[in-house]
Amino acid sequence: MMQTSVLEPKVAPPSKEALKVNPQLINELKQFGVVSPEICYNCGLCVAVCGQSGAEHNFPRRTIRCVQLGLEEELLSSVEPWLCYYCGDCTDSCPREAEPAEMMMGIRRWLIAKYDYTGQAKHYYTSTKRLILDTVFFALLPVLGLFILHYFGWARIVSNEVRINEFAPVMIIWIAAIITGTIHALILLAGGYHMFKLVMNDDALKDEIRISDYLLEIKEFVANFITQKKWLACGKKEATRWLKHLILVLGYATMFILIIGFLWWFQTDNIYPITHPQRWIGYLATIILLFGTIDIIVGRLQKKDQIHRFSHHSDWAFPIILFLVVVTGILVHILRYMALPLPTYIMYTIHLMASNVMLSTEVGVGKWSHLLYRPLAHYLDAVKERAQKRILVPGDPTQI
Ligand code: SF4
Ligand code: SF4
Repeated sequence: MMQTSVLEPKVAPPSKEALKVNPQLINELKQFGVVSPEICYNCGLCVAVCGQSGAEHNFPRRTIRCVQLGLEEELLSSVEPWLCYYCGDCTDSCPREAEPAEMMMGIRRWLIAKYDYTGQAKHYYTSTKRLILDTVFFALLPVLGLFILHYFGWARIVSNEVRINEFAPVMIIWIAAIITGTIHALILLAGGYHMFKLVMNDDALKDEIRISDYLLEIKEFVANFITQKKWLACGKKEATRWLKHLILVLGYATMFILIIGFLWWFQTDNIYPITHPQRWIGYLATIILLFGTIDIIVGRLQKKDQIHRFSHHSDWAFPIILFLVVVTGILVHILRYMALPLPTYIMYTIHLMASNVMLSTEVGVGKWSHLLYRPLAHYLDAVKERAQKRILVPGDPTQI
């Protein structure tokens, strides 16, 4: 009889739920941009070249197999799509041209829609028409708000000099921005909680996972959330992309904090000297966002890199909206310095429209949701791994 080594993992049989088959899964995923999973013949070359894959996570091959077999529950509870950083090495090596990298991207869109309790993500990713309608709706909300303010006399147009805070009182705009930001941050957090429930619903580990496992991994979660450092495991060639992404996120975070936390200080009718932090912090964040968005748009137009070969409508929406926010912000600044009241107010209104679309479509369910889901996937995976190791070597004092 064969002896079982203590180092051999106890593999729990898959639950009935995990083995449920959804014959429509492939068609459903194709709506989210998954290309051609049927043609993959599971050779595993993609796993061999993937810097993120390993003994525990045999992706993208295994992920694609789940798609082919219609194992929806298995896919829903998997963190693997989030461990992929779209370096494109798997696609370069695939003999079947099954586009595994874009497949992983499409699955991530599908997962965001599954985590989202509001249903907004599903429309956002599967219908260009619906994305345009949502964009128009969220763009018109600030116009309606300004109309109400002026109609009831809570704001006014000063036409002999630029008075933005008379046209749009800063405290009202600030409160509106906080409410909007909070709503979409809560949508994202609820999605994170849903992901947590799906990933941790593991019968084999449920009783083994301890509170200390969660606590001991928090430091890594925070580090990964801020830096996305796991990306670097894709190899040196991805370091530049990682750095550009990090700088763009810092620029975006600075602008986000300025708007949500300090708009009362940032939106002022006083013109400060160039050395004042209100100006150079704003300029720095603006330059980063301007170059970052131009770089993404040019990359998508040129289609040179793997990541830019396929551009789903949601891939275009993010850089275009962010670009509009930045450019209209710059124009408001210029027009204000040129002392042109009416053009400044019109441009400010367009800037508010673009900013509201940005907050309402990108934070909760759009591109920026990746910033939470990726580190959360690594975190939950690390927590499970701690528990798994205890099962693997019971009583091992080196395992906390
Ligand atoms: S995606 Fe391509 S490389 Fe990967 S297992 Fe399928 S056929 Fe092989
Ligand atoms: S795109 Fe890169 S990280 Fe993602 S599965 Fe393929 S090789 Fe791995």
